[in-house]
Amino acid sequence: MSAPLLPDDFLASLNSWLEPDAVARVVEAMSLEKPVCVRLNHKRWQKHDLLAWSEARQLMPQPLGWYEGAWLFPAEARETLTHSEAFAEGRFYIQNPSSLLPVHLLDPQPGETILDLAAAPGGKTLAIADRMGNSGQISAVEAVKTRFFALRRNLEAHGADSVRTYLMDGREAGRKVPERFDRVLLDAPCSSEARLVPGQPDTWVHWNLRKVRECQRKQVGLLKSALRTLKPGGRLVYSTCSFSAEENEVVLNKVLKRFDETVTIVPVQVPVANVHPGLVNHAGKALNPELSRAVRVLPDAVMDGFFVCVLEKRFP
Ligand code: SAM
Repeated sequence: MSAPLLPDDFLASLNSWLEPDAVARVVEAMSLEKPVCVRLNHKRWQKHDLLAWSEARQLMPQPLGWYEGAWLFPAEARETLTHSEAFAEGRFYIQNPSSLLPVHLLDPQPGETILDLAAAPGGKTLAIADRMGNSGQISAVEAVKTRFFALRRNLEAHGADSVRTYLMDGREAGRKVPERFDRVLLDAPCSSEARLVPGQPDTWVHWNLRKVRECQRKQVGLLKSALRTLKPGGRLVYSTCSFSAEENEVVLNKVLKRFDETVTIVPVQVPVANVHPGLVNHAGKALNPELSRAVRVLPDAVMDGFFVCVLEKRFP
């Protein structure tokens, strides 16, 4: 008997908001091996270094296009890249382009104070530090000890010394440091639906609807805390690698109610094609209409699935 393609509850959830032919394309894209996306650590390496290194190995990376310093290599180059001295020395980082989208939308500026509230292993923290030319102050919070130390190792390998790290529950941050940060990233812990691989049950043993509900509870707590840490006029990016409305729009809807008129969802232009607007109805209930400004990236030959929403705190 062949393995089931994906968990039934996951497919039912996708089918509740996507047309059947779009579901089929999503499922197909979830099995594809994607190109490898390399993001330069400009503190250690420049474009000409990467191009010379690639040429010596007969590799021809293509610029990602919408993110400065990000390059796509064919999937077959993965081992050459991950086993290289350049990788071990932190001259570049490997992350799917979807992971660069929240940083692109956060748009951190040199000299600002930034909070990354769920940071390990640090792919986005490192991208933020690089974008800011390692100036300004970045605080990176992680609650799980082993992951916290992995974050510290990555930051050290990349020389990201503008980042301070905190081993703590991000739900405490709002009380401890209210209205402290210009920009906040909450790349929330989630059930990681975009990582499920069709026909490979070992990639989805961790996934079930109870896990989705548990994640939602934590996400609500983290988002409330994240918003409290934001200065008036500041920008917050909420992202997950789950498709589920329960971990995205429902979380935002609950929290927006609490913050009433003080927080708004910002319309954004995303530089990728295969996107779906945020849902404004779920399980027969109307949600905040501003949620149509959120963006769900559907997986394709290059991008992993992703959800992202940009919030702004109004001045009183
Ligand atoms: N932004 C990271 C990156 O790009 O490398 C990935 C973050 S991952 C989606 C979410 C992280 O949140 C995990 O490392 C998880 O351990 C951490 N986490 C879980 N609960 C947390 C909490 N209460 N406070 C802070 N971090 C938490």
